[in-house]
Amino acid sequence: PGFTEKKILVSSSLSKEEIYRLRKKHVANACILFYDPDPLQIVRAQGQYMYDEENNEYLDCINNVCHVGHCHPEVVAAAARQMAILNTNSRYLSHLNSTYSEQLTSLFPDPLDTVFFVNSGSEATELSLELCRVWNDATDFICVDSGYHGHTRSAITVSNYKFGHPRGIGKPDFIQMMELPDTYRGRYRDLETAGEKYGAEAETLVENIMSRGAKVAGFIGESAISCGGQIILPQNYLKTIYRTVRGAGGLCIADEVQVGFGRCGTGMWVFETQGVIPDIVTIGKPMGNGHPIAGVVTTRRIAEKYRLNRPEYFNTYGGNPVSMAVGLAVLDVIKKEKLVQHARDTGALFLQELKLLQQRHDCIGDVRGIGLFLGIEFVKCRDSKEPDEDTAVSVKKSMYKNKIIVSTEGRYNNIVKIKPPMKFDEANVAHFIKHFDRAIFELKC
Ligand code: PMP
Repeated sequence: PGFTEKKILVSSSLSKEEIYRLRKKHVANACILFYDPDPLQIVRAQGQYMYDEENNEYLDCINNVCHVGHCHPEVVAAAARQMAILNTNSRYLSHLNSTYSEQLTSLFPDPLDTVFFVNSGSEATELSLELCRVWNDATDFICVDSGYHGHTRSAITVSNYKFGHPRGIGKPDFIQMMELPDTYRGRYRDLETAGEKYGAEAETLVENIMSRGAKVAGFIGESAISCGGQIILPQNYLKTIYRTVRGAGGLCIADEVQVGFGRCGTGMWVFETQGVIPDIVTIGKPMGNGHPIAGVVTTRRIAEKYRLNRPEYFNTYGGNPVSMAVGLAVLDVIKKEKLVQHARDTGALFLQELKLLQQRHDCIGDVRGIGLFLGIEFVKCRDSKEPDEDTAVSVKKSMYKNKIIVSTEGRYNNIVKIKPPMKFDEANVAHFIKHFDRAIFELKC
């Protein structure tokens, strides 16, 4: 309502220099990217597009939050309506968390029928680890090298992506790390057998835990690995790990914070492609399309055991009426606009086009992905697979000049990632490919 008008621009009264100066001086946690002396100032966004103060249009290919598109009118209207009638402070008294929890859990296989509402993916990780500890009166976890599950104290111990374990925490003894199941540059590359081979390491790690006289609390892993390099899990990977971890009494957590709610086009949840049912699933980001809301979905038995130990899991904002109204609107839009199928079809087309580009450019070592979760890996030489961060970053900058926003990530920062809002369409794919091709061509690689 009104927000969708192209004419409406909220400009800042500050110059770019002033914005930069103030941010540098006062904001401690803006990611390094945003400490740019010539910062891009997005003032509004719609669908898969963002607009700056001069109304220039940017194609958003980095957004892993706004699944249903920026400022979707139905989501905006639901939030505005709810803000006006019942905002917060009454979360246990509003019917909305009952309605939403029923709709949300109906999207999960049995016996995952219970949800804890929290505020961020990190908080969801924190709670999910605690559920495991309580369930088995245990301390030790198995996680995946280069995984990312959040920035809070426990979450960071299972997330060594890029920065390793931070000073003061180090890699704690109670963490065992599986090798990244990378079928492009890792040890096992045969797609048929790699999952079982990578997954088999869980047995050794369980033995390590036992040999220090401890017990296995659980395993946590992303259902498709994002920050670690857009890694699609090889088949039977989770099945193999889950069998071992459960055999040792531990619980299995699937992190769907980034890839859940249909981004990958395989259904609502990516763990389904692995033929497993986790004990706990963490969800976040697209759940509120940018509004801060996250959750931990688990079984009644696990939730009850936790409640016996800690009668009230309390947080101020979890399950508040505005979040619930937004969550309901998001689910409704995903269903009505058939966004999962759309992500599957557009993603398949996108991947096919990227594979054609790979044939034209030797510097592309690999392209991979499912649905609208894609990655292009740059290498100096296809045979040695030596990572090429410089080219990846140059391509990213060139795309930016053409008003297409992509990011680079992965262990060597040599992977251009694509994770746009799910409304991304065929014309967007063609536009992207044209500029990507040109950007690489101009770099002559
Ligand atoms: N898990 C995954 C897979 C994520 O990508 C993220 C955020 N990038 C988190 C957890 C943490 O979520 P948040 O930033 O909302 O705390």
